Amino acid sequence: MSEARDLRPDERAVDLQPASDAALRFIGTIRTPWARREDCPRQGRHDGPLCRLVLDPVWHDALRGLEEYPTIEVLYWLDRSRRDLVLQNPRHDARTFGTFALRSPVRPNPIGTSLVKLERIEDGCVHVRGLDCLDGTPLLDIKPDRCAFSPKAPPKPGDTQDQDG
Ligand code: SAM
Repeated sequence: MSEARDLRPDERAVDLQPASDAALRFIGTIRTPWARREDCPRQGRHDGPLCRLVLDPVWHDALRGLEEYPTIEVLYWLDRSRRDLVLQNPRHDARTFGTFALRSPVRPNPIGTSLVKLERIEDGCVHVRGLDCLDGTPLLDIKPDRCAFSPKAPPKPGDTQDQDG
């Protein structure tokens, strides 16, 4: 459930019906060194500690080919966030911002994303650096880094030139 905290000056919450319109499927769990929110980095770093994306066994084969990418994108569900703020006063800034102008975990659909450094993949477990989430955060998705990704088309006749011809 969301962890309620008092509103800071100028923050505004709204009354919401419980969300029920989209069903996401968690694909695993993220293991990190951080048990408390205040110990988490605000954004991960590629020289940060090793973290693990532990996939449910049914998804192990879905990792095939991922090892080719030095950086990958991870999407996760910031499950311990409240979801009702439209205005927020970030802890490190005296100003007030709209939720969509922030990368705060407090948002109507608390999806976090990080571009992380892939260290290795072993037995359905992806070892990465660059995360910023609590231990036990549910894993939503993994994608190759969009800058490194190019669809791998199968070779067509004529792709390779015969040196003699
Ligand atoms: N990198 C992601 C992004 O930009 O979408 C998340 C950034 S958010 C500022 C990271 C912060 O969310 C952490 O510092 C911690 O305070 C908080 N957080 C981490 N894991 C969480 C979880 N499972 N539930 C709620 N808050 C979490």
